[in-house]
Amino acid sequence: MNTTLNIEINKTKVSKLPQTNFDDLKFGQTISDHMFVADFENGEWGNFRIEPYAPLQLNPANATLHYGQSVFEGMKAYKNENGEALIFRADANQKRLNESAKRMCIPEVPEQLFMDGLTQLLEVDKDWIPNKPGCSLYIRPFVFATDDYLGIRPSEKYKFMIFTCPVGNYYSKPVSVKVECQYTRAAEGGTGFAKAAGNYAGSLYPALQAQKQGYDQLLWTDGKSHQHIEESGTMNVMFMINASLITAPTTTGTILKGITRDSVLTLAREMGVKVEERFLRVTELEDALRSGTLVEAFGTGTAATIAHIAKIHINGNDYELPQKDSSAFSNIILETLDGIKYGKLEDKHNWIIKI
Ligand code: PMP
Repeated sequence: MNTTLNIEINKTKVSKLPQTNFDDLKFGQTISDHMFVADFENGEWGNFRIEPYAPLQLNPANATLHYGQSVFEGMKAYKNENGEALIFRADANQKRLNESAKRMCIPEVPEQLFMDGLTQLLEVDKDWIPNKPGCSLYIRPFVFATDDYLGIRPSEKYKFMIFTCPVGNYYSKPVSVKVECQYTRAAEGGTGFAKAAGNYAGSLYPALQAQKQGYDQLLWTDGKSHQHIEESGTMNVMFMINASLITAPTTTGTILKGITRDSVLTLAREMGVKVEERFLRVTELEDALRSGTLVEAFGTGTAATIAHIAKIHINGNDYELPQKDSSAFSNIILETLDGIKYGKLEDKHNWIIKI
Protein backbone atom coordinates (compact mmCIF):
# COMPACT_ATOMS: atom_id res chain seq x y z
CA MET A 1 0.00 0.00 0.00
CA ASN A 2 1.22 3.47 -0.83
CA THR A 3 1.00 5.48 2.38
CA THR A 4 2.30 9.04 2.56
CA LEU A 5 5.28 9.89 4.68
CA ASN A 6 4.57 11.25 8.13
CA ILE A 7 5.89 14.80 7.93
CA GLU A 8 5.60 17.18 10.86
CA ILE A 9 4.51 20.59 9.62
CA ASN A 10 5.36 23.72 11.56
CA LYS A 11 4.16 26.76 9.60
CA THR A 12 5.63 30.22 9.85
CA LYS A 13 3.67 32.75 11.90
CA VAL A 14 4.62 35.58 9.56
CA SER A 15 4.64 34.90 5.83
CA LYS A 16 7.06 36.88 3.66
CA LEU A 17 4.52 36.83 0.81
CA PRO A 18 2.94 40.28 1.44
CA GLN A 19 6.37 41.98 1.24
CA THR A 20 7.53 40.07 -1.86
CA ASN A 21 7.51 41.91 -5.16
CA PHE A 22 6.78 39.27 -7.80
CA ASP A 23 7.55 41.81 -10.52
CA ASP A 24 11.18 42.08 -9.42
CA LEU A 25 12.47 38.58 -8.73
CA LYS A 26 16.19 38.02 -8.94
CA PHE A 27 17.23 34.40 -9.36
CA GLY A 28 17.94 32.74 -6.03
CA GLN A 29 17.44 35.82 -3.88
CA THR A 30 13.79 35.52 -2.96
CA ILE A 31 13.17 32.37 -0.96
CA SER A 32 9.74 30.96 -0.06
CA ASP A 33 8.48 30.64 3.51
CA HIS A 34 9.25 26.99 4.26
CA MET A 35 11.83 24.24 3.85
CA PHE A 36 11.67 20.46 4.04
CA VAL A 37 14.26 18.71 6.21
CA ALA A 38 15.16 15.05 6.82
CA ASP A 39 18.07 13.66 8.85
CA PHE A 40 20.12 10.56 8.13
CA GLU A 41 21.42 8.95 11.30
CA ASN A 42 22.24 5.38 12.32
CA GLY A 43 21.82 4.21 8.73
CA GLU A 44 18.33 5.55 8.08
CA TRP A 45 16.37 8.65 7.12
CA GLY A 46 14.01 10.10 9.71
CA ASN A 47 12.78 13.23 11.49
CA PHE A 48 10.82 14.46 8.45
CA ARG A 49 9.63 18.02 8.87
CA ILE A 50 8.54 21.17 7.11
CA GLU A 51 9.52 24.27 9.00
CA PRO A 52 10.00 28.01 8.42
CA TYR A 53 13.00 28.74 6.17
CA ALA A 54 15.81 29.66 8.56
CA PRO A 55 19.61 29.55 8.91
CA LEU A 56 21.23 26.29 9.95
CA GLN A 57 23.56 25.89 12.87
CA LEU A 58 26.77 24.22 11.79
CA ASN A 59 29.77 23.18 13.78
CA PRO A 60 33.02 24.56 12.23
CA ALA A 61 34.20 20.94 11.92
CA ASN A 62 31.21 20.09 9.67
CA ALA A 63 32.52 17.67 7.01
CA THR A 64 30.80 19.41 4.07
CA LEU A 65 32.57 22.69 4.80
CA HIS A 66 35.95 21.00 4.46
CA TYR A 67 35.58 18.13 2.02
CA GLY A 68 32.52 19.10 -0.01
CA GLN A 69 30.51 15.92 0.40
CA SER A 70 27.38 17.48 -1.03
CA VAL A 71 25.04 16.96 -4.00
CA PHE A 72 22.07 18.94 -5.25
CA GLU A 73 19.31 19.18 -7.85
CA GLY A 74 17.52 21.96 -9.69
CA MET A 75 13.99 21.70 -11.01
CA LYS A 76 10.89 23.84 -11.47
CA ALA A 77 7.16 24.01 -10.76
CA TYR A 78 4.71 26.04 -12.82
CA LYS A 79 1.11 27.17 -12.44
CA ASN A 80 -1.48 26.35 -15.11
CA GLU A 81 -4.45 28.55 -16.01
CA ASN A 82 -6.57 26.92 -13.28
CA GLY A 83 -3.99 27.82 -10.63
CA GLU A 84 -2.86 24.20 -10.20
CA ALA A 85 0.81 23.49 -9.47
CA LEU A 86 2.64 21.41 -12.09
CA ILE A 87 6.07 19.95 -11.35
CA PHE A 88 8.20 19.04 -14.37
CA ARG A 89 9.98 15.65 -14.41
CA ALA A 90 10.61 15.42 -10.65
CA ASP A 91 11.11 11.66 -10.95
CA ALA A 92 14.09 12.25 -13.23
CA ASN A 93 15.62 14.68 -10.72
CA GLN A 94 15.14 12.15 -7.92
CA LYS A 95 16.97 9.48 -9.92
CA ARG A 96 19.79 11.85 -10.87
CA LEU A 97 20.18 13.01 -7.25
CA ASN A 98 20.80 9.40 -6.30
CA GLU A 99 23.29 8.82 -9.12
CA SER A 100 25.19 11.85 -7.81
CA ALA A 101 24.82 10.67 -4.20
CA LYS A 102 26.20 7.22 -4.96
CA ARG A 103 29.36 8.68 -6.52
CA MET A 104 29.94 10.90 -3.48
CA CYS A 105 29.30 8.11 -0.89
CA ILE A 106 26.12 9.87 0.20
CA PRO A 107 23.12 7.69 1.14
CA GLU A 108 20.41 7.60 -1.50
CA VAL A 109 17.16 9.47 -0.96
CA PRO A 110 14.28 7.00 -1.40
CA GLU A 111 11.71 7.95 -4.02
CA GLN A 112 8.91 8.31 -1.48
CA LEU A 113 10.96 10.58 0.76
CA PHE A 114 11.87 12.81 -2.17
CA MET A 115 8.38 12.94 -3.68
CA ASP A 116 6.38 13.32 -0.47
CA GLY A 117 8.80 15.92 0.89
CA LEU A 118 8.55 17.82 -2.38
CA THR A 119 4.79 17.65 -2.87
CA GLN A 120 3.96 18.47 0.74
CA LEU A 121 6.38 21.42 0.72
CA LEU A 122 4.77 22.72 -2.46
CA GLU A 123 1.31 22.30 -0.99
CA VAL A 124 2.36 24.45 1.99
CA ASP A 125 4.07 27.05 -0.25
CA LYS A 126 1.75 26.82 -3.28
CA ASP A 127 1.10 30.57 -3.21
CA TRP A 128 4.79 31.13 -3.92
CA ILE A 129 4.46 29.69 -7.42
CA PRO A 130 4.12 32.79 -9.60
CA ASN A 131 1.12 32.74 -11.93
CA LYS A 132 2.53 35.12 -14.52
CA PRO A 133 3.54 33.88 -17.97
CA GLY A 134 7.13 32.69 -18.09
CA CYS A 135 7.53 32.69 -14.29
CA SER A 136 8.05 29.61 -12.16
CA LEU A 137 9.16 28.25 -8.80
CA TYR A 138 12.75 27.01 -8.75
CA ILE A 139 13.17 23.98 -6.47
CA ARG A 140 16.50 23.14 -4.84
CA PRO A 141 16.75 19.67 -3.23
CA PHE A 142 20.19 18.88 -1.74
CA VAL A 143 21.97 16.44 0.54
CA PHE A 144 25.08 17.17 2.56
CA ALA A 145 27.29 15.58 5.21
CA THR A 146 26.72 16.67 8.80
CA ASP A 147 29.37 14.78 10.75
CA ASP A 148 31.53 17.03 12.89
CA TYR A 149 34.74 15.23 12.19
CA LEU A 150 37.92 16.28 10.43
CA GLY A 151 39.12 12.86 9.35
CA ILE A 152 38.60 12.15 5.66
CA ARG A 153 35.97 9.43 5.30
CA PRO A 154 32.31 9.37 4.25
CA SER A 155 30.19 11.10 6.86
CA GLU A 156 27.81 8.99 8.93
CA LYS A 157 25.19 11.71 9.25
CA TYR A 158 23.49 13.78 6.50
CA LYS A 159 20.69 16.23 5.90
CA PHE A 160 18.33 16.14 2.92
CA MET A 161 16.64 19.47 2.42
CA ILE A 162 14.41 21.20 -0.13
CA PHE A 163 13.70 24.89 -0.41
CA THR A 164 12.19 26.90 -3.24
CA CYS A 165 12.54 30.32 -4.89
CA PRO A 166 10.02 32.08 -7.12
CA VAL A 167 11.78 33.16 -10.32
CA GLY A 168 10.83 35.70 -12.94
CA ASN A 169 10.43 35.33 -16.67
CA TYR A 170 13.82 33.89 -17.51
CA TYR A 171 14.42 35.03 -21.03
CA SER A 172 18.01 34.30 -21.87
CA LYS A 173 19.45 36.83 -24.27
CA PRO A 174 21.63 35.08 -26.84
CA VAL A 175 24.95 34.24 -25.19
CA SER A 176 28.57 34.39 -26.29
CA VAL A 177 30.69 31.37 -25.42
CA LYS A 178 34.38 30.55 -25.42
CA VAL A 179 35.59 27.06 -26.29
CA GLU A 180 37.85 26.22 -23.35
CA CYS A 181 40.98 24.37 -24.43
CA GLN A 182 43.14 24.82 -21.33
CA TYR A 183 41.13 24.14 -18.16
CA THR A 184 39.16 20.94 -17.55
CA ARG A 185 35.73 20.56 -15.94
CA ALA A 186 35.63 16.78 -15.77
CA ALA A 187 37.78 13.79 -16.60
CA GLU A 188 36.83 10.20 -17.34
CA GLY A 189 36.60 8.32 -14.07
CA GLY A 190 35.92 11.60 -12.24
CA THR A 191 32.71 13.20 -11.01
CA GLY A 192 31.48 15.19 -14.04
CA PHE A 193 28.20 13.27 -14.33
CA ALA A 194 27.34 14.05 -10.69
CA LYS A 195 25.65 17.24 -9.59
CA ALA A 196 28.24 17.56 -6.86
CA ALA A 197 29.13 20.87 -5.21
CA GLY A 198 32.86 20.62 -5.98
CA ASN A 199 32.30 20.43 -9.75
CA TYR A 200 30.84 23.91 -9.63
CA ALA A 201 33.55 25.34 -7.38
CA GLY A 202 36.22 24.10 -9.78
CA SER A 203 34.55 25.68 -12.78
CA LEU A 204 34.31 29.19 -11.31
CA TYR A 205 37.88 30.32 -12.01
CA PRO A 206 38.01 29.35 -15.71
CA ALA A 207 34.53 30.86 -16.23
CA LEU A 208 35.66 34.10 -14.60
CA GLN A 209 38.68 34.30 -16.93
CA ALA A 210 36.37 33.91 -19.93
CA GLN A 211 34.05 36.60 -18.55
CA LYS A 212 37.00 38.97 -18.20
CA GLN A 213 37.65 38.38 -21.90
CA GLY A 214 34.03 39.34 -22.65
CA TYR A 215 32.34 35.94 -22.97
CA ASP A 216 29.26 34.91 -21.01
CA GLN A 217 30.09 31.24 -20.61
CA LEU A 218 32.49 28.46 -21.46
CA LEU A 219 32.05 25.53 -23.75
CA TRP A 220 34.00 22.80 -21.98
CA THR A 221 36.04 20.37 -24.04
CA ASP A 222 37.17 16.90 -22.95
CA GLY A 223 39.85 16.75 -20.27
CA LYS A 224 42.18 14.46 -22.19
CA SER A 225 42.84 16.19 -25.49
CA HIS A 226 40.59 19.30 -25.43
CA GLN A 227 39.53 18.32 -28.93
CA HIS A 228 35.79 17.80 -28.62
CA ILE A 229 32.92 19.72 -27.06
CA GLU A 230 31.36 18.38 -23.88
CA GLU A 231 28.94 20.84 -22.26
CA SER A 232 28.58 24.31 -20.84
CA GLY A 233 28.76 25.55 -17.21
CA THR A 234 25.19 24.78 -16.25
CA MET A 235 23.81 23.59 -19.56
CA ASN A 236 24.18 20.84 -22.09
CA VAL A 237 24.97 22.06 -25.58
CA MET A 238 23.41 21.22 -28.93
CA PHE A 239 24.36 22.09 -32.50
CA MET A 240 22.21 21.89 -35.61
CA ILE A 241 24.61 21.23 -38.45
CA ASN A 242 22.87 20.97 -41.81
CA ALA A 243 19.74 19.10 -40.68
CA SER A 244 21.31 17.05 -37.85
CA LEU A 245 20.96 17.84 -34.17
CA ILE A 246 24.30 16.97 -32.57
CA THR A 247 24.97 16.76 -28.84
CA ALA A 248 27.61 14.99 -26.75
CA PRO A 249 26.73 11.51 -25.46
CA THR A 250 26.50 11.02 -21.69
CA THR A 251 28.33 7.69 -21.70
CA THR A 252 31.81 8.90 -20.68
CA GLY A 253 30.79 9.96 -17.15
CA THR A 254 32.06 13.48 -17.79
CA ILE A 255 28.76 15.16 -18.66
CA LEU A 256 25.68 15.86 -16.55
CA LYS A 257 22.65 13.99 -17.92
CA GLY A 258 20.50 17.07 -18.36
CA ILE A 259 16.78 16.56 -18.02
CA THR A 260 16.14 19.38 -20.49
CA ARG A 261 18.63 17.65 -22.83
CA ASP A 262 16.63 14.43 -22.63
CA SER A 263 13.33 16.30 -23.13
CA VAL A 264 14.66 18.16 -26.19
CA LEU A 265 16.06 14.98 -27.76
CA THR A 266 12.77 13.13 -27.14
CA LEU A 267 10.75 15.91 -28.81
CA ALA A 268 13.27 16.27 -31.67
CA ARG A 269 13.06 12.55 -32.49
CA GLU A 270 9.25 12.76 -32.45
CA MET A 271 9.43 15.70 -34.86
CA GLY A 272 11.47 13.54 -37.22
CA VAL A 273 14.68 15.52 -36.66
CA LYS A 274 17.86 13.48 -37.09
CA VAL A 275 19.57 13.28 -33.69
CA GLU A 276 23.24 12.39 -33.33
CA GLU A 277 24.50 11.75 -29.81
CA ARG A 278 28.19 11.96 -30.57
CA PHE A 279 31.16 14.14 -29.80
CA LEU A 280 31.62 17.17 -32.03
CA ARG A 281 35.27 17.94 -32.63
CA VAL A 282 36.34 21.55 -32.18
CA THR A 283 37.76 21.50 -35.73
CA GLU A 284 34.44 20.22 -37.05
CA LEU A 285 32.61 23.02 -35.23
CA GLU A 286 35.01 25.58 -36.66
CA ASP A 287 34.55 24.19 -40.20
CA ALA A 288 30.77 24.34 -39.79
CA LEU A 289 31.00 27.95 -38.57
CA ARG A 290 33.22 28.92 -41.49
CA SER A 291 31.12 27.19 -44.14
CA GLY A 292 27.79 28.32 -42.69
CA THR A 293 26.51 24.76 -42.17
CA LEU A 294 26.08 25.43 -38.44
CA VAL A 295 22.45 26.51 -38.47
CA GLU A 296 21.83 26.79 -34.72
CA ALA A 297 23.72 26.37 -31.47
CA PHE A 298 22.06 26.47 -28.06
CA GLY A 299 22.38 25.41 -24.45
CA THR A 300 19.68 23.40 -22.65
CA GLY A 301 19.01 23.55 -18.91
CA THR A 302 16.36 24.04 -16.25
CA ALA A 303 17.08 27.76 -15.73
CA ALA A 304 16.54 29.03 -19.28
CA THR A 305 15.25 25.85 -21.00
CA ILE A 306 16.96 27.06 -24.22
CA ALA A 307 19.79 29.62 -24.36
CA HIS A 308 20.64 30.63 -27.91
CA ILE A 309 24.32 31.01 -28.70
CA ALA A 310 25.12 34.12 -30.73
CA LYS A 311 28.92 34.01 -30.71
CA ILE A 312 31.51 31.23 -30.40
CA HIS A 313 35.18 31.87 -29.66
CA ILE A 314 37.64 29.20 -30.80
CA ASN A 315 41.40 29.59 -30.32
CA GLY A 316 41.59 33.33 -30.99
CA ASN A 317 38.72 33.59 -33.51
CA ASP A 318 35.19 34.88 -32.87
CA TYR A 319 32.39 33.48 -35.00
CA GLU A 320 28.97 35.14 -35.05
CA LEU A 321 25.75 33.18 -35.53
CA PRO A 322 22.67 34.72 -37.14
CA GLN A 323 19.63 35.53 -34.95
CA LYS A 324 16.88 32.92 -34.90
CA ASP A 325 13.24 33.57 -35.74
CA SER A 326 10.20 31.66 -34.46
CA SER A 327 10.55 29.01 -37.18
CA ALA A 328 13.96 27.91 -35.85
CA PHE A 329 14.10 24.42 -34.32
CA SER A 330 15.25 25.78 -30.94
CA ASN A 331 12.30 28.17 -30.76
CA ILE A 332 9.75 25.53 -31.75
CA ILE A 333 11.20 23.27 -29.04
CA LEU A 334 11.12 26.09 -26.48
CA GLU A 335 7.48 26.79 -27.25
CA THR A 336 6.58 23.11 -27.07
CA LEU A 337 8.35 22.56 -23.76
CA ASP A 338 6.79 25.69 -22.27
CA GLY A 339 3.40 24.50 -23.51
CA ILE A 340 3.84 21.21 -21.64
CA LYS A 341 5.26 22.84 -18.50
CA TYR A 342 2.41 25.35 -18.19
CA GLY A 343 -0.23 22.71 -18.94
CA LYS A 344 -1.26 24.18 -22.30
CA LEU A 345 -0.14 21.20 -24.39
CA GLU A 346 -0.92 17.54 -23.86
CA ASP A 347 1.58 15.82 -21.54
CA LYS A 348 2.11 12.71 -23.67
CA HIS A 349 5.19 11.54 -21.77
CA ASN A 350 3.83 11.88 -18.22
CA TRP A 351 6.40 14.55 -17.45
CA ILE A 352 4.05 16.54 -15.22
CA ILE A 353 3.02 15.88 -11.63
CA LYS A 354 -0.03 17.94 -10.71
CA ILE A 355 -0.53 18.78 -7.03
N1 PMP B 1 25.13 20.57 -17.17
C1 PMP B 1 25.42 21.07 -15.95
C2 PMP B 1 26.84 21.04 -15.49
C3 PMP B 1 24.40 21.60 -15.14
O1 PMP B 1 24.67 22.11 -13.93
C4 PMP B 1 23.06 21.60 -15.62
C5 PMP B 1 21.95 22.18 -14.77
N2 PMP B 1 21.39 21.21 -13.94
C6 PMP B 1 22.81 21.05 -16.89
C7 PMP B 1 23.87 20.53 -17.63
C8 PMP B 1 21.42 20.98 -17.43
O2 PMP B 1 20.65 20.02 -16.71
P1 PMP B 1 19.07 20.16 -16.58
O3 PMP B 1 18.54 20.22 -17.97
O4 PMP B 1 18.65 18.93 -15.86
O5 PMP B 1 18.81 21.40 -15.82
